Amino acid sequence: MSGAAHLDFRSDTRTAPDAAMRRAMAAARVGDDAYGDDPTVGRLESEGARLLGTEAAVLLPSSTMSNLVAVLAAAPAEGTPLIAGRATHIAHFEAAAMRRFARTPVTAVRQDADGMLDAEPVRQALTTGDRHVVCMENTVMLCEGNALPPSSQTELAVLVEHHGAHLHLDGARLANAAVAHGRPVSDMTAGAHSVTFCLAKGLGAPVGSLLGGSAEFVDRARGLRLDLGGTMHQSGVLAAAGLEALQRVPHLADDHALAELLATELDRVEGADVPAPSRRTNIVTVRLPGMPEQLLRQRLADRGVLVLPLFDGYVRFVVHREHDEASVAGAAAALVHAGERERGPRRSPSVLRSEGAM
Ligand SMILES: *Cc1c(COP(=O)(O)O)cnc(C)c1O
Repeated sequence: MSGAAHLDFRSDTRTAPDAAMRRAMAAARVGDDAYGDDPTVGRLESEGARLLGTEAAVLLPSSTMSNLVAVLAAAPAEGTPLIAGRATHIAHFEAAAMRRFARTPVTAVRQDADGMLDAEPVRQALTTGDRHVVCMENTVMLCEGNALPPSSQTELAVLVEHHGAHLHLDGARLANAAVAHGRPVSDMTAGAHSVTFCLAKGLGAPVGSLLGGSAEFVDRARGLRLDLGGTMHQSGVLAAAGLEALQRVPHLADDHALAELLATELDRVEGADVPAPSRRTNIVTVRLPGMPEQLLRQRLADRGVLVLPLFDGYVRFVVHREHDEASVAGAAAALVHAGERERGPRRSPSVLRSEGAM
């Protein structure tokens, strides 16, 4: 690293494996996971299951594949309908693939401001009699990364259970949700039949996602992973990084504290709109009055600050382990600059004085 502040806020997937993680990868004992004898993958899957509070877990290359495999494993027949919140990764980015590869029509339903699924449309859909797969997300990326408390999913879990449906939790950032609520990760999966858990976001592994569920469900998922070409061979090298990542769950509290600082600093900028979620994690969104998100993204990029555009003028900052207070200061300074270009440079008090205005 150059020592310069790290100003890439596009995603926590941008975290690179650090020296300790690379050492663990270099030292990993491996087998061939297609034959089920890679000891490091075995360890990751059993430690992952323990963390998630599920009977078993399987390692997949990505959370996108983990969600797809979960839906395929949960759907008893082709065409099993899927319900997901409108503001979720599955509804926004995965629905087309779900339709194409799982032949699953996706119904996107309302969520409340915190990102929790509205139970009423779910209830209505479930009473049609078809078996459904219901997906929820925690943390909720498109609701400013809000961390839902475990109690928020109780009603949904009861409803799903009552109708014999399957509840899948897209917990790509579930570790952030657990840390934000000071609870073990296993508390966050209560009532879910399966859970996706990303190793390659804030936890810093280069690749990998765990899919947890009952032993029977995970067996089915393993078969589907093979069919999809997601079975890997000497993947103990990756699992070693995943095991390091699991150790780092408590460190996410540092990312959250820094995100809170970033939100405070951005909020100070004139005109900035920084929505506050009920329980912030590592995501901060901001917009400036009248400025389209693509223009704001560009102006921040002009100052070396990289973010992703969302919609309605908002751009997204994701804080992770490679950021520090200097990164936050750089981000705030870039936002001031972006706003000034819109308003014209603010005149300094000395200029005003010389013009007799003060
Ligand atoms: C990032 C993310 C995914 C996809 O993860 P990949 O590993 O990049 O495929 C899925 N769901 C949610 C909620 C995510 O944040």
